[in-house]
Parts: sequence; structure tokens; C-alpha cells
Amino acid sequence: MSEISNQIKLAARTEGCQTTEVAIGDSVKVGGKPVVIIGGPCTVENPEQMEIVAQKLKGSVSAIRGGVHKPRSSPYAFQGLGEAGLDILQSMSQKHGLPTVTEVMSVEQLAACDEKADMLQVGSRNMQNFELLKALGQAKKPVLLKRGLSATIEEMLLAAEYIMAHGNPNVVLCERGIRSFDTFTRNVLDLGAVVALKQLTHLPVIVDPSHAAGKRELVADLARAAIACGADGLIIECHPEPEKSVSDARQALSLEDMVELVESIKPIAAAVGRSVAGDVAKKRQITVVQGIGSQKSGRLTLRKRIARKAARG
Ligand code: PEP
Ligand code: MN
Repeated sequence: MSEISNQIKLAARTEGCQTTEVAIGDSVKVGGKPVVIIGGPCTVENPEQMEIVAQKLKGSVSAIRGGVHKPRSSPYAFQGLGEAGLDILQSMSQKHGLPTVTEVMSVEQLAACDEKADMLQVGSRNMQNFELLKALGQAKKPVLLKRGLSATIEEMLLAAEYIMAHGNPNVVLCERGIRSFDTFTRNVLDLGAVVALKQLTHLPVIVDPSHAAGKRELVADLARAAIACGADGLIIECHPEPEKSVSDARQALSLEDMVELVESIKPIAAAVGRSVAGDVAKKRQITVVQGIGSQKSGRLTLRKRIARKAARG
């Protein structure tokens, strides 16, 4: 702990303290034994799109993401539907009982998002927008704080500290990759930061493999690696027609691939003592755990047999 700033007072993990559980809506909690998976498009485009997303992902994910205020590199790119998008998110949520996560880019956008969404995302580009962080301290809803493009672990924790010091203890951290020299992946997913953050703070830590990878074919393996190294959840971009996504099309999974990915995470979660939130197929997990156990004893038996054979010469 001495290696990190003594200014991190509220977010620091003290010896023996449990990970804080942060509620998203009424039924989802991040930071407990179950890992929480959030899925949905980069951008809310229209009601039909969100209806298909909810129908296909219901039963697989715990919450739906979708941006209505989009931080685009170009001022000419689509900037999001704004409040009309918030209404789409809200009615989808009411109809399907799925909580929502959406980005807030400015203090002016906060009141409406706080009213209509279940979790407020601070995007990478705003991690050190201190006025926004202070205002989020007064928000009713929990905050998903994404790591800045080139923010250190300490700067990220200090950003969380801003929100907490201003009155909101419900903060979830999100590692989403950092800028480096190699542009093959959009960013470099810093799993070392996930492991470090889990030791340094009691706040839950989730991973966004989509913005880290920038390429859909890399997302699933990174997602599984994140759960294997202790992340409390994932936020992943997916779309009914990935290639037609108005933003971040190259990294969007199809909804079918998203459902398949969630299934593939279950044995990984079980192997590290976790489950997947909303997973009712508990029996299946037990079978998987027993499967791992018997494989192990199978290997031992084989090893013993080889040793005996060697001893016999
Ligand atoms: C997003 O979630 O769509 C997004 C813009 O993320 P980030 O702030 O991590 O780039
Ligand atoms: Mn995106």
C-alpha cells in the first residue's frame, strides 16, 4: 500500500476488507461472487435495434449498455441520439426488466441520465473531467469509471476518490486498454492493472475487452482472460448487425456470438471460484467443476502409472 498515494482514503482496500458490492438497478450487484456481464451496442440507434438486443441477450447478460451521448474523434461523426436515446433505453429496460448503463459526458447531461438510466458511465476521455466527477458524487445512480487512455492506476484511483469524496460510494472501475506504440490492437488491455486494482481497492473492477481489442475476433479470449485473472465483470459491445453498427463496428460481436461467449465464461468463472450472475444453470456449473476435478485425478493416475512403469524399468 505504501507504493500508492496516501490520498486514496475512501477507495483503498484495507487489510481483510471485502470487495464492495455495487448495485445496478434492483436485482444486479457487481463485486460479489457472481461476475456481472453487461452487453449491448456502442450506440443506441433506434427502438427496434434495442428490442432485438434485449430479446436476444435476456437470460445471458445482467445489464444492457448503449451510448446516447457519444465521444467521437471527429466532430462530423454521429454524436448519439441524446435524450431520445435515453427514452429508448428506458422503455426497453422497463419492458424487459434489464438495467441499463449509459455514458454521461458533461455535467449538463447528468440529470436526465441519472433519472432514466441505472448506471452512469464515465468514458475514457472524461476520466479526469473533475467537474463531472464531482457532480457524479451527487448522483443517485452508481458510476462506471473507465480508465483514461493514458491514465496511471493511481490517477484512476484518484478519479474514483473524487466521486466518493463528493458523496457517491457506488463506483465500479473499468479497465479498457491503454494507448501504446502498437496499433494492431486498438489499445493494450492491461490485465496487470486488473490484478493490481483488485489488491489496491475494495471497489469492483470490470473489463471492457471490446475497446481494448478493437477487433471482434480478439474479444472472446480477452474476456475469458479477464475473468480468469479476477475481474468482477465485463462490458462488451454487440449488435444485431455488427457490420452496420454506426460506431465501433469493427469490434462489435453478433448477438449470437455474445450469448456463446457468456456460456464459455461459465467454466472459467467456476475455475476461479466465481459464477456468472443470473446463471440459473447451477447444476451445469457443478458438473463442470466435477469435470475439472476428475480430469485432475485422471492425470494423477496417469502420472502414477508412468512412475510405476519407470520403476519397473
Ligand atoms: C464506449 O463505451 O462506447 C466508449 C466510448 O468507451 P471508452 O470511453 O472506453 O473509449
Ligand atoms: Mn464504443
